[in-house]
Amino acid sequence: MLNVHFFTFNAFSENTYIISNHKKQCWIVDPGMYEQRETDEFISFIEKHQLQPQSIINTHAHLDHIFGVQALIDKYGIPFGIHELELPVLARGADTAAMFGIRFGNLPKADFFIDHGQPLQLGDDMVSVFLTPGHSPGSISFYNADGKWVIAGDVLFNGSIGRTDLPGGNFDTLIDSIRTYLFTLPDDTTVLSGHGSETTIGDEKKYNPFLKG
Ligand SMILES: [Zn+2]
Repeated sequence: MLNVHFFTFNAFSENTYIISNHKKQCWIVDPGMYEQRETDEFISFIEKHQLQPQSIINTHAHLDHIFGVQALIDKYGIPFGIHELELPVLARGADTAAMFGIRFGNLPKADFFIDHGQPLQLGDDMVSVFLTPGHSPGSISFYNADGKWVIAGDVLFNGSIGRTDLPGGNFDTLIDSIRTYLFTLPDDTTVLSGHGSETTIGDEKKYNPFLKG
């Protein structure tokens, strides 16, 4: 069984996840720590629980989800994975930071690609990977059937959906991704999003104003 713990970091209130198994191996999803104190808090948690980071796996490469990547690569020597379709988004990072007036010197490079339909294995546990574009061209979601959760990044939120006005975004594509890959999961699946509080697939089917009916 996998354990999921989250932090909320940076000016965008981004959720960073740690997924760990009973052997204390862990993945880090969307490390958004920006301030030094955020990085310190994160590393203290890893040390306190004696976790062994294996890799960084990102739902997508928007700035608020990658601020902390390079610091973790430097600290743990672990590889950073994204879907290949996120490469242009990652490459635009420096320009985007300049546009928003954000100081960001550590733009990471992708070390490996994560493909749709290719499960990721952490010890004896695995998560399925769905390509769920629309918010970003290479957005992916991580689904764990045993734990009944899906990390959906900025695709689906509690009562909302990801914005589609950024480069590579598309509203119809986003709705289609949600209906095809998220709304076909069991209703009691917990949705862990890139921002805001958790929800369930069942609640979003019933109450999400963008997806009702
Ligand atoms: Zn995003």
